[in-house]
Amino acid sequence: MSNDGTILAQKIRKSFGPKTVLKDINLEIASGEICCIIGPSGSGKSTILRCINGLETVDSGVLKVNGEDFGYYETDTAYHALPPKKLAEQRTRVGMVFQSFNLFPNMTAQENIMSGPVLVKGQDKKQAGKRAHELLASVGLAGFGDYYPAQLSGGQQQRVAIARSLAMDPEIMLFDEPTSALDPEKVGEVLAVMKQLAKKGMTMVVVTHEMGFAREVADSLIFMDDGYVVERGDAREVLSNPQEARTQAFLEQVL
Ligand code: ADP
Ligand code: MG
Repeated sequence: MSNDGTILAQKIRKSFGPKTVLKDINLEIASGEICCIIGPSGSGKSTILRCINGLETVDSGVLKVNGEDFGYYETDTAYHALPPKKLAEQRTRVGMVFQSFNLFPNMTAQENIMSGPVLVKGQDKKQAGKRAHELLASVGLAGFGDYYPAQLSGGQQQRVAIARSLAMDPEIMLFDEPTSALDPEKVGEVLAVMKQLAKKGMTMVVVTHEMGFAREVADSLIFMDDGYVVERGDAREVLSNPQEARTQAFLEQVL
């Protein structure tokens, strides 16, 4: 298996019924790049992430993840789905962290982290358990393995969710507003874990309203509005010197 970590989208379109929510989206994300996506509610940010990890399928365009046609491929005449097993394998290589944590409530932190490797990859329980232990420590939660999600704060749950994604050894991590549901004092601990991951060279696409994180950590920044990529470029450049009027107006509101 190649170890690629790139994302390429060309002219991605996606509609829900009559509503087109992604309109000719182009993206090119290099291995190890940290890309932040910003934009108003309803602009298509979650939908593009969901396409990149296979929770949604695109209607047309080219989507390559980790250097491979993702889930389907396009010829001059038609779309051809890759076998479901192939898509499932591709999906294990893209981790996703949601605003609402999405941990399994009936499993401990340790069991949550072990679930993917054991159930999806058929990994040995002892080995998966050892790795879960290490991952818990790496997100600052050594000793919390036996806690159930309800016994953890939002910030702790989100760090378990990150560890659970990492347990699958993805080449790419997607974050959909990972700190938006947290109390303000818990935001920093989650961003710290994400910064640590960024330093290790993980490819990361982060939908966020945390402009400080974008300025400090992101390589590239994308501003989306109404299903379009309105502006993209070097993160600090776009934040300090946006070229498009819509980007300027948005940044004035959030900065
Ligand atoms: P964002 O994350 O930027 O707020 P979304 O990608 O969630 O935006 O949504 C973009 C648009 O697509 C919105 O108008 C939303 O209502 C619509 N949408 C998203 N998912 C669905 C769906 N499953 N069915 C119908 N409409 C959807
Ligand atoms: Mg969203």
